[in-house]
Amino acid sequence: MTVSDAGAFRAQILHFTGVPDPLTGAGIEYMEDGVLLVENGRVKAVGRAGDMAQQGLDLHQCEHFPEHLLMPGFIDSHIHYPQTSVIASYGEQLLDWLNNYTFPTELQFADPDFAAVAAAEFLKFLLQNGTTTAMVYTSVFAQSTQAFFSAADKFNMRMIAGKVMMDRNAPTELLDTPATSAADCRELIERWHNTRRLQYALTPRFAPTSSPEQLAVTGKLYRDYPGLYLQTHLSESKQEIAWIKTLYPKARNYLDVYDHYGLLGPRSVFGHGIHLSDDEITRMAQTQSGIAFCPTSNLFLGSGLLNMARLEDAGIPVSLATDVGGGTSFSQLRTLAEAYKVLQLQGQNLHPLKGFYMATLGNARALQLDNCIGNFEQGKEADFILINLGATPLQALRQKTALTVAEKLFALMTLGDEHNIARTYIMGKLAFRRADKAQGALVWMD
Ligand SMILES: [Zn+2]
Repeated sequence: MTVSDAGAFRAQILHFTGVPDPLTGAGIEYMEDGVLLVENGRVKAVGRAGDMAQQGLDLHQCEHFPEHLLMPGFIDSHIHYPQTSVIASYGEQLLDWLNNYTFPTELQFADPDFAAVAAAEFLKFLLQNGTTTAMVYTSVFAQSTQAFFSAADKFNMRMIAGKVMMDRNAPTELLDTPATSAADCRELIERWHNTRRLQYALTPRFAPTSSPEQLAVTGKLYRDYPGLYLQTHLSESKQEIAWIKTLYPKARNYLDVYDHYGLLGPRSVFGHGIHLSDDEITRMAQTQSGIAFCPTSNLFLGSGLLNMARLEDAGIPVSLATDVGGGTSFSQLRTLAEAYKVLQLQGQNLHPLKGFYMATLGNARALQLDNCIGNFEQGKEADFILINLGATPLQALRQKTALTVAEKLFALMTLGDEHNIARTYIMGKLAFRRADKAQGALVWMD
């Protein structure tokens, strides 16, 4: 085996084999001097450098990054690609924010050329932030979904995405109908679902912008194509919940609207779920429907604090997400920092090992993708990142006094952002590297 056809990467290596238990070390594999071997884009082996050398590996053949932490690429379970330029828009809560910022911007995505440029830009932002897989909302225009899948396919990134379905309570130019949305979805599903690394998610924006007829059509599609995902928003703001009561007066609660149309299940990911009732929690757990926890968005839009312990105690899968552009950063490091604070405000904790588990294997499990990504199990797709632990003078100073891997990770997630991501690899190939850590220049690979 030569390095050129395979790739051998020597660094500090961290990945998870299960839910981490910081006390016993179960679920955590950390190597201060480790080697990751990649062949044909997949993990061939991972182990301690000394052990690998004993088994015959010539360590000189490795690309060596002694100062860097190598780990699986981050996974983001809820993000909107048309909202990249809406990020950091001032002064509104959810419903006004949609009307004043998001809807006008999404109108531009009717133009396929505009959408193609925006999709490539968005994917580059993910790569710069060390995110290699995401579950993505596109816009109501099928051509914007087409543009997104084409770009993701070109970047060879594992992505789940879908066309937004929305037939009321938005500007007329942004509305589809139950019939056109169903036809567009079928065409996109047949073109892209399970094509190379791409999968399709039915994407009704949220119940207020879909008529009962459109949700019925969504349920039919979900049944017609068993491997699909479903993503939508749930119980994000109190104003939204009050609105649901007027739009769906017969529903017992917000979740019941989706339940009625058969949209719950282990492949369904609901953004937010901040204000759920006990009945809704019970039903989420029964159906193994997931919640995407979006702390920067929940704080920014003033939506509320997610009680993660309550969801996890009930057995609901909770994943970690940025929700750009309601969220304020593409970085899962920034997201972890805010998640920690959201939980602190409620007397809960987020252990750094749990946090990094969530951003990698945990999110892979929540998205039913742990058969192919999330850690360095042999045969998995080799999406990984190299992290510079001391990207700023303050971080470098703090890391010097961090004695354990948990301390290093906590300083990283509290102080870090995209500037810590030195390199991002997709299927073993370098896709992005930060050329100069002082200047932060960016270099893109073909
Ligand atoms: Zn969202």
